[in-house]
Amino acid sequence: MFVKLCLTAELYFFMGGSYMIDAQLFFLSDEYFHDFPDDKLMKNTVSLVGAGPGDAGLLTRKGLACIRTADVIVYDNLISGSLLNEARLDAELIYVGKRMGAHSMTQEQINQILIEQAQSGKYVVRLKGGDPFVFGRGGEEAAALHSHGLTFEVVPGVSSAYSVPAYAGIPVTDRSCASSFHVITGHEGVGKKESVVDYQALAQAEGTLIFLMGLSRLEEIAQSLIRYGKCAETPVAVIERGSTARQRELVSDLAHIAERSRAEGMKTPAVIVVGEVAALSKKLSWYGRRPLGGKRVLATGTRHFSQEMERVLWPLGAETVSVSVIESRPILSEEMEQALRNLAEYTWMVFTSGNGVEIFFEQMRRQRIDLRSMAHLRFAAIGKKTAEVLEHHGYLCDFTPECYTSERLAEEWIPILNSGDRVLMLRARESSPILPEKLSEVGIPYEDVVVYETWTDVRRGEELNRIIKEVDYVTVASSSAVRALQSLLQEPLENDVRVISIGPVTTKAACAAGLPVYATANEYTAEGIAETILADVRGEIANEK
Ligand code: SAH
Repeated sequence: MFVKLCLTAELYFFMGGSYMIDAQLFFLSDEYFHDFPDDKLMKNTVSLVGAGPGDAGLLTRKGLACIRTADVIVYDNLISGSLLNEARLDAELIYVGKRMGAHSMTQEQINQILIEQAQSGKYVVRLKGGDPFVFGRGGEEAAALHSHGLTFEVVPGVSSAYSVPAYAGIPVTDRSCASSFHVITGHEGVGKKESVVDYQALAQAEGTLIFLMGLSRLEEIAQSLIRYGKCAETPVAVIERGSTARQRELVSDLAHIAERSRAEGMKTPAVIVVGEVAALSKKLSWYGRRPLGGKRVLATGTRHFSQEMERVLWPLGAETVSVSVIESRPILSEEMEQALRNLAEYTWMVFTSGNGVEIFFEQMRRQRIDLRSMAHLRFAAIGKKTAEVLEHHGYLCDFTPECYTSERLAEEWIPILNSGDRVLMLRARESSPILPEKLSEVGIPYEDVVVYETWTDVRRGEELNRIIKEVDYVTVASSSAVRALQSLLQEPLENDVRVISIGPVTTKAACAAGLPVYATANEYTAEGIAETILADVRGEIANEK
């Protein structure tokens, strides 16, 4: 379990797992570490991990531990982008799926990558859609590794074969009408000499027939089954992009499914379910019914902020794809050490992010400074999330402005100070200059110590550019995230992609960077962003574009 991390908004950054393991230590409970295999023991090993059908939540605990430990992750299209958010920040991410205008890699080339990476002493995770051993060519990859004497393990995944029907309200077995289910490739070609799929036997078989990779041959499949005696009125469901915001379900019968599917423009990836159970979809269909059902939101920012977005959007039914484009790393300086040793000299501490709070307490611990030495200090926080982080450490915040920006903090808080006050700020590099400026104006001494900085995670560029074309909303939560996003984008955003900003400072930075913002949240938090998206879905937004 992650310890909940909260941060403010207009604030520039969250803690990422930078200096990776180091920073993650601030946020993760012991339970988390028990999941980790020892990466040294995993050297020269490949884990073939099933990533599930698309919903990032349908990943096993073991699969997640593999992703978090890997030196190299080899992945393709069918997996959720959010999963790579879990990778180590120094992990190499290798995309082997289809690229726009280019051929995807051959299986031979993919095998070669796995072999070379493992031989070079790395721990390699091969992430595959669904289950790696169900039509995933995972067996071929395992065989290639075996023939080179390399160690591999298989982490089964939730296969689309039964989970995609489940997301369409179709149980693949049913006591009254299906006591078996059969999973078949539709790729082989019906009636081809080399085809080993016996349609005659399938037509006679009891139970549910589930075809993967069959959409382009749906007509042949349906006709063959009818020809070999399957009733033309047998219910059939086609489920496209199951378990994602783009899920579509079509139910018809064997005689009409191909024509209906063409008319509806059903696309791959799709699962075809033939059998009485398919009709249950009409009654049991459940997915996508919540307020943001069918909406796909790309959450940018640090991994912690995108996780925060996921947490908030999940109950609303949106599909959140997290692509963290920035991360932060602590800056541990002599200046900071000194400031902490001299806490007695200050009367106020100001935090403009949860990140700053976490680094502060971690450094107090490392420098072995007793927390009782700061009983005299008062705390100001830029917003309620920062104040919550402080509270998490047992300190109640003395001041939070009405509106969570540096400007408002300066406006509302500085007037309550008096000439005897001395202020310590622990902030990010490139933080807003407003607070120091205003403190100088009224002659209050302060120390403004840089305790962390952010950097752009360029590894996520490939995914970002692929995924951003298929989302309804993009959320931006800090000026640095906006700049990182713009620097990674290869093309301008499509018109129907709506950028939602966390607050006016971020919106201003977006405008300056040439990123058109559709709407700005009223409350500068992840919840505020979710509220704005909800309002837009209800048609209540007058857009700023
Ligand atoms: N190993 C995968 C299957 C790989 S074959 C698994 O166990 O799920 C690829 C086929 O899987 C696609 O052509 C499609 O038939 C099916 N598929 C995978 N993900 C899907 C999804 N989200 N929605 C519908 N079909 C999907």
